Amino acid sequence: MTKAGVSQDMLTKDEKYVWHSMKPYTPNDTMIAQSAKGSWITDIEGNKYLDAMSGLWCVNIGYGREELAEAAYDQLKRLSYMPLTQSHESAIKLGEKINQLLGDDYVVFFSNSGSEANEAAFKIAKQYHQQNGDFYRSKFISRYRSYHGNSTGSLAATGQAQRKYKYEPLGPGFLHVAPPDEYRNDHSEKDNWGAKEIDQVMTWEQSESIAGVIMEPIITGGGVIVPPEQYMSEVKKTCERHGALMIVDEVICGFGRTGEPFGFMNYGVKPDIITMAKGITSAYLPLSATAVKREIYEAFNGSDQYEFFRHINTFGGNPASCAVALKNIEIMEKENLFNRSKELGKVVMNELRDRLQSHVNVGDVRGKGLLIGIELVENKQTKDPLEASKVNSVIAYCKQKGVIIGKNGMTVAGFNNVLTIAPPLTIEEEDLSLLIDTVVDGIYKI
Ligand code: PMP
Repeated sequence: MTKAGVSQDMLTKDEKYVWHSMKPYTPNDTMIAQSAKGSWITDIEGNKYLDAMSGLWCVNIGYGREELAEAAYDQLKRLSYMPLTQSHESAIKLGEKINQLLGDDYVVFFSNSGSEANEAAFKIAKQYHQQNGDFYRSKFISRYRSYHGNSTGSLAATGQAQRKYKYEPLGPGFLHVAPPDEYRNDHSEKDNWGAKEIDQVMTWEQSESIAGVIMEPIITGGGVIVPPEQYMSEVKKTCERHGALMIVDEVICGFGRTGEPFGFMNYGVKPDIITMAKGITSAYLPLSATAVKREIYEAFNGSDQYEFFRHINTFGGNPASCAVALKNIEIMEKENLFNRSKELGKVVMNELRDRLQSHVNVGDVRGKGLLIGIELVENKQTKDPLEASKVNSVIAYCKQKGVIIGKNGMTVAGFNNVLTIAPPLTIEEEDLSLLIDTVVDGIYKI
């Protein structure tokens, strides 16, 4: 069969057997990947694409690193499985490494996905309060526009109505407040206003009923919303005043995406619970983690009156996943990728701002490290989101030129208007130039 024939056959079978996330079956839009190396993906017809979204923001050290394949192979040969009701060396070493990266005293619970890491965080937070005799702390506050996962608790925490309303009722007790969106909210006390709303909600709902707050340092899937500098520390102080825990979702921001090992480190806070996934293995194998401050962990480990954490996970902390995560972090440190993300991020942001600032449809260019959003609007005064077909035309132009970028926003009709760029942290500088030129050209073609 010719290449085109093979590809047609695969597309037909794909349509027949594979249910794709988040989209109707659109044959002309589906890339069937065959291999990938560095920042480049090759499809089954041999077309090459520069992946400026790292898959779904995951592949931080790039594709095709043999060291990671070898780490998985060595581990699988030695010990293929051991649940963490017992233990194994790779999980122990990874727990220690994560603790070291977090720069404080945390204990780590492993799962397989970001959603599960957040579910574990909610259960740990509730039970922690109960262990302390605080029996009514069951509610959580999160922000509109956030995404925290697909399971009933993590989707309830998610602040994007379109993803949720068909599946109600979800986990009860999740409250939402406005995101700290500096572009769309002109507020005089900007560093504090979002935290003040959280403070008010905690008071109105009765502090003793609030278990915690969950937030990403930068809301990613909701449109790359970078908070004011003091926002996270004000939220932390608010949590402390009300006796609630601060849970930080680092599923995308963690492992260098924002130019620090973890996104919260940009804002000088020490969260009570930190969840992480995606970049922990650069998406080579599934793994996630929920890191909790030692004093929280210790509330589960006391005398008879305490109850242990009744939560089990068959594959969480799988030996091969942990071995791959350790190698992934070793590479990130050896290649100085946290700092590289920070420095390259500044270069990309400055160049995009210089070249796009005067464009009538570019409302805002924002981000941190190699996590960048370009908000497209009808005009800069009204800030009405740019018509979806025009936003899509930029993405289609880039894809046609061999560059994959994404779009995110509120997932409310008409507001999915933020182009997103998050390439592997290892992206070559010449590829970065190609990426910038292509995105800028695509926007000038609107
Ligand atoms: N939190 C955030 C911030 C995410 O972006 C995601 C996934 N995109 C999740 C949680 C859920 O992770 P998973 O898809 O691995 O369950």
